[in-house]
Amino acid sequence: MEEKLPEDLANLSELDEKSLLEVLTGRFTQNLIYTYIGDILVAINPFKYLSIYEKEVSQYKCHEKKSLPPHICAVADRAYQSMLGRLATGPKNQCIVISGESGAGKTESTKLLLRHIMELCKANSQLEQQILQVNPLLEAFGNAQTVMNDNSSRFGKYIQLRFQNSSVKGAKINEYLLEKSRVVHQDEGEQNFHIFYFMLAGISTEDKEIYGLLDPTRYRYLNGRFGKEDMVQAWRLKYAEVWNAMDMVGFEEQEKVDMMTILAGILSLGNIAFETTDSDALKVSEASRGWLKATAGQFGVQEEDLLKSLTCTTSVTRGEAIQRLHNQQQAEDARDSIAKVAYGRVFGWIVSKVNELLAPKVDCDVELNEIGILDIFGFENFAVNRFEQLCINLANEQLQYFFNHHIFLMEQKEYKEEGITWETITYKDNKPILDLFLTKPIGILSLLDEQSAFPQATDRNFVDKLNSKFKTAPNFEVVRNHTPLFTIVHYAGKVQYNASGFLEKNRDTIPANIRELFINSVTPLLSVLFAATISRTGTLMPRRAKLQVADDNFNSTRKQSVGAQFKRSLAVLMEKMFAAGPHFVRCIKPNRSKQPDQLDSKLVMDQLRYNGLMETIRIRRDGFSWRPKFREFAERFVCSLSCGIQVCLILDCVSCCVDYRSRICRRRYLALLAEIRRQRQAQREREEREEEE
Ligand code: ATP
Ligand code: MG
Repeated sequence: MEEKLPEDLANLSELDEKSLLEVLTGRFTQNLIYTYIGDILVAINPFKYLSIYEKEVSQYKCHEKKSLPPHICAVADRAYQSMLGRLATGPKNQCIVISGESGAGKTESTKLLLRHIMELCKANSQLEQQILQVNPLLEAFGNAQTVMNDNSSRFGKYIQLRFQNSSVKGAKINEYLLEKSRVVHQDEGEQNFHIFYFMLAGISTEDKEIYGLLDPTRYRYLNGRFGKEDMVQAWRLKYAEVWNAMDMVGFEEQEKVDMMTILAGILSLGNIAFETTDSDALKVSEASRGWLKATAGQFGVQEEDLLKSLTCTTSVTRGEAIQRLHNQQQAEDARDSIAKVAYGRVFGWIVSKVNELLAPKVDCDVELNEIGILDIFGFENFAVNRFEQLCINLANEQLQYFFNHHIFLMEQKEYKEEGITWETITYKDNKPILDLFLTKPIGILSLLDEQSAFPQATDRNFVDKLNSKFKTAPNFEVVRNHTPLFTIVHYAGKVQYNASGFLEKNRDTIPANIRELFINSVTPLLSVLFAATISRTGTLMPRRAKLQVADDNFNSTRKQSVGAQFKRSLAVLMEKMFAAGPHFVRCIKPNRSKQPDQLDSKLVMDQLRYNGLMETIRIRRDGFSWRPKFREFAERFVCSLSCGIQVCLILDCVSCCVDYRSRICRRRYLALLAEIRRQRQAQREREEREEEE
């Protein structure tokens, strides 16, 4: 017989790493991938199909009254019931924060949560389908195969489901930091975004010709590689699924065609190579003349204009246009930045379009409540860490701060208020690291903006500035090297950053001639994608109003640097989250080889440690993690309370539950006793009346 292992780590009588690992490993081998720490859910990726997502999920409806095993659907249910005010009092809006490293199962958890919430609110089938179909669409354009995960999300997202009372009325998605550099370069063992492979595998021969697509192995942006037949078969099905998802969500035929044409254009663009002539001038290599022509056709622009935007930069000084010729490296950089910006715009546009289609259709005075689900990249520490890693790790610091705030500060504050004797738990407060990044005017991001504003400044200047400002800061370490390096001591460990390219990436400006090139494109979508940005400055409006996008993801922040935009969106997100009832799902990756039934203890332990889960278990174990309302408590433990059962028995039961570490806090315990006394009094009076009669 299989050993019964605790479902809640807060119930462990021994709290050491060994016993903790024993429980998690024991549960994992019994396919029990979910475990609670009080109300936090720990989820270990099974890397295999489990039947727990079938029929029994329907039990997770008002499940707090039932004794059900830990499950991701329980989190969905708790968030939903809390939003309806059916559980302990608190804010109506809810947020579910899912964290974990790449491949730990965040996106799969998000999908399970969404699906279950849709079940619970019995969404109308069209809206439900639309909301659920957004995922395959976003994954096709925003996910890619990496060394860590075959379906790795290369962007972060916050999905907000909007409800009027108990029914869902719409949704909104915020996306963060799409890894655009993947379009032009992938490391060994990695791939470009899925959509390129899906498209090349799934498109009909006839459409291939229309879009001007050639054999996949010819494209440099795909490293000249494609998949084996079984893979291609799977991609073909995925392409049909994406196309179907676009239909479901409400994309128009022309928009879909435009999107695919732009993708085809990006692939052709990547094959354009340059060479210098005898006279030192730059030209497109003989072999890639055909690619230039193809790209121009796919982007709907003039070939000469495209060539010009690749080989020279035009700047306007005192009303005069000045042309500067590129060298070979600059031309290649211009080519790659066109590809990245075009892809980034398509992705941003898809998200905006989805938001437009899923916007709640209710009167503006109707009060809507929200459940937000945050699926954002985990902490990253690679051999070389760049600007992207800096932003990702900053987001993780912010989330860790949010987690600490709820788990440690709020909890301890409440105990203090209730007069509970309590030995303060020490935890790693990461506020100083957040300040190091975000303080104005001398945080890392502000200094980066300051340097980015000087056209002549270099990445070295930026690091020199950091070194002089922060050399004594506890979370900053100066690195003496001719490469511009610096180290930050993050909550999850030290990360050395290479600042090469920081200023350029932070500015993320599109040269005027490239923007102009696309605005003049005869491909309507392309023209709008670039015109929409300018429209804010009032110089140009989108040609087709119905293609105009209205979302703040997309067109509002052109003048801001990437760092400032990110800082702002993080601040908006945090404001929302701090005002909502939080729910935490901590995803754990059991092994690096993506294999089922294998658990690498060291890897798991490392994740538990840097997630702050050890301290969390302690606070949950020694604290009062279960906060039932009186009715719920009574229904669960003393169901015959009103049926005249011996009061002493009830009292026994109550104290027994308390002793048995059910951890109802003192205020609630006293409320319970008072209620029981009231009932006892009522019972006595009833008995006396009966006697008198
Ligand atoms: P990234 O940060 O790279 O996006 P992630 O945390 O979102 O990673 P997922 O893409 O959710 O990771 O999961 C990786 C893979 O693990 C999935 O493609 C799937 O094969 C498997 N997986 C995750 N969760 C489950 C689950 N609950 N049941 C079965 N398989 C799972
Ligand atoms: Mg993911």
